[in-house]
Order: sequence, then C-alpha cells, then structure tokens
Amino acid sequence: MPKINPFKSAQQQLDKAAQLMGLDSTVRERLSMPKREIHFYVPVNMDDGSTKIFEAYRVQYDDSRGPNKGGIRFHPATDINEVKALAFWMTFKCATVGIPLGGGKGGVTVDPKRLSERELEQLSRGFIRGLRADIGPDKDVPAPDVYTNPKIMAWMLDEYETLHGRHLPGVITGKPLPVGGSAGRGYSTAQGGVYVTLELAKKMKLKKGATVVIQGFGNAGSYMAKILTKKGYKIIGVSDSRGGIVNPKGLDPVAVEKHKASTGSVQNFAGAKNVTNAQVLTTPCDILVPAALENVITADNAGKIKAKAIVELANGPTTPEADEKLYKKGIILVPDILANAGGVTVSYFEQVQNAYNYYWSEQEVLAKLEPIMVDSFNAVWANTVKYNCDLRTAAYIHAARRIEQAMLARG
Ligand code: NAD
Repeated sequence: MPKINPFKSAQQQLDKAAQLMGLDSTVRERLSMPKREIHFYVPVNMDDGSTKIFEAYRVQYDDSRGPNKGGIRFHPATDINEVKALAFWMTFKCATVGIPLGGGKGGVTVDPKRLSERELEQLSRGFIRGLRADIGPDKDVPAPDVYTNPKIMAWMLDEYETLHGRHLPGVITGKPLPVGGSAGRGYSTAQGGVYVTLELAKKMKLKKGATVVIQGFGNAGSYMAKILTKKGYKIIGVSDSRGGIVNPKGLDPVAVEKHKASTGSVQNFAGAKNVTNAQVLTTPCDILVPAALENVITADNAGKIKAKAIVELANGPTTPEADEKLYKKGIILVPDILANAGGVTVSYFEQVQNAYNYYWSEQEVLAKLEPIMVDSFNAVWANTVKYNCDLRTAAYIHAARRIEQAMLARG
C-alpha cells in the first residue's frame, strides 16, 4: 500500500473548513505551503570510530500569530512531508487554543533506540548546531515529540547557550525543572486531553467507569492512562510499538508502566490478553485514544472502530477518508489540534516563566491550563452547531479565523 502523505491530508482538512467558513482566498493560498523549510545533515562520530550522517529537517510553517513553535521528532520513518504536516498542525493548534504562537516542527530520520547515549547526545547537539541561527525565543522554539525527551532538551539548550554565550532558556521547552522547565510540562499533553475528555463526557452523558483504549504508551499515552484512571475511567487496552494488551476488567496503568520499564513492552502483562496494534484500535470501548503516530485510522479500518468517541492525542492519526466514515457512523472525534494542545500550552507557559525568570507552582500551571482547554473545547463545540459539521472542521474554522485576522492585519 502506498504511504499516505500526511501533508496532503492536512491540506484537505483545511480545505473543508475554508469552504464552509469562506476563508479569505489569499490566506488560504498562503497556508498551502510553509514559509520556510530547512533541510540539513548532522554528522555523528559513532562509538565504533565511523562517521554517520543523519538527515534533519526544521519547518517554520507560519508565524503570523507569534514565533514558530513545535517539537522535534527522532524516528526512522520521519521525512519532510511528515514534518511539514506536523508544523502545519502546530500552526492551527496554537490558534485553536488562542496562544500567541505560530507553528513549526523538526525531525531527524533516525532510529534512536539503536544509538548509544553518547551518540544520541552528539546527534542532539549537532541538530542544534545546524539550526543555531534559525531558532531563538523570539523566532522558533522547539520542544519534545516522539522519541525525544527532557534530557535531550537539556543537551540542546546547553549547546544553544554555549554557541550564543548567554542564558536563553526560552529557546526550547519541555526542559527538566533544574534548567528552566515548567512544573506540569511532563504530563501536560495528557492533562489537556483529560480536561477535554471530561467536557466531552458531559456532552455524551458518559457514566463513571467509562472504558478507554489507548494506542501508544509513551509520554502522551501513559499519562493519559494514569490521569483518566484517577478520574474514575477504566483503561481496558493499551499498546506500544511491539503490540498491545486488553483486559475488559481494567488495567492498572502504573503496573503496566513498571512492566514496560522492566521488559521493554506492555505485552505479556499478567491477567491481560496480548493483541496486535490493529486489534487494539478495534476493541469495543467508550473512548479510543490514539497516542502514537499518524495514519492509524484509515478508510480500511474506520468501519471496524467500535468506540463511541475518539480523542486524538497523537497528531494526524486519522485520514480524511476515515473522518468521513466515522462521522457517518456517529462516532464523535475530538481532533488533535484541540485534544493534544495542552502540551504546547504549557510550553508557552514555560517560555513566559523563562522570560520573567520567575516560576509558577504546579497548581498555578494547572489552574491556567484548565480554562484554556475547557473554553477552547466549548468554542469548537459551538462551531459544530453553527456550521453543522464535525469537530475537526469546527476546530479548523475556529483556528483559521484567528490566523486570517493576524495575516490580514499584517497586510
Ligand atoms: P513518545 O516517544 O513518548 O511515545 C510514543 C509511543 O508510541 C511509544 O509508546 C511507542 O512505543 C509507541 N509507538 C511507536 N510506534 C508505534 C506503532 N507503530 N504502534 C503503536 N505504538 C507505537 O511520544 P509522545 O510524546 O507520547 O508522542 C505520541 C504522539 O503524541 C505523537 O503523535 C506526538 O506528536 C503527539 N504529541 C505529543 C506531545 C508531547 O508533548 N509529547 C504533544 C502533542 C502531541
């Protein structure tokens, strides 16, 4: 099967909204391509004495509303179309939740699991050396994404500050706390997803003990499982890159996390049945949470999804064809640009704290995050009624209007 181009899907999503809302045609045209695409290569001296060259990208999609913002992905399947799509989604995500930032994204085509710690550090520092003139707190601000984490952000910060000869912690977010990270950033993507899920549950009149299945058990997925469990939801299935597990009686996410840490996978967890990643997605449940990669819900399996609702913590997990099928089946889908915006919102808080060199408590961070997520959800929900459309299109309309206003104001 040919690889689905996520950038094409992203453009299709906007087209649908642009038509319904009557988006200014020059704005639509400008949003059809990124402002800048940077391709570069990072040489790394490997532990065996050889040199390996890694292909790297940074896409600065649109900065009409503020500095470009978006994570860095280290993954063997990452390519320029994926990074372009992710940068596009960041642009709309920041506008959906109304934070004053544009969209960007970075990536390296690499399997980081095959690198030693030293090689990974060299790659991370080399990535920043390649971009030293292109990023900055008022230009473009990276963060973690798939297979990158706070430790890598600290190496990247250190490299950037060494090159610039001063402290500039706002150049990167998702940092560890001792070097200017924000309280709550580690679990903020999931926390934002939980605030949105709780609003959705009110609309759907879901009862306590509603069942949840999560694909992907990394930063976004594992925290989602843990926080939802505390809120009284029952996690009945989870998966990672090696496969999934299902237990209709419920899984303890903390125990699953320990099991994954000691065995390398969620599979073979006591009391649960091993299933494939495809089976995880079609497990009957109230809420399905894709929290891994793009294009996992497609025209091929959309008809088999047995969830009542989908909350997209991953970016781009559903193709436009699948969207149509799910909408016709009456499955409510809360789109990525709303559902996973908690991460970038707390990244924005991190930048604000860095700029002031004054830090907030975890309670202060959460007290600021919750109303942003709740209000954004309700504004998007209101658009579904006004425009008689699905939540994704409604979110695009909400976001595109804000981007349109900024672009037109700039002339
Ligand atoms: P992560 O690296 O922490 O975790 C990724 C998880 O996906 C791992 O459990 C991995 O095993 C699993 N995975 C990889 N390939 C898979 C496959 N083929 N099938 C099933 N599972 C697979 O990454 P993350 O930060 O949790 O990101 C997950 C998704 O959430 C991505 O789409 C990312 O863009 C999105 N997201 C992350 C953040 C953030 O702040 N980290 C913010 C917004 C959106």
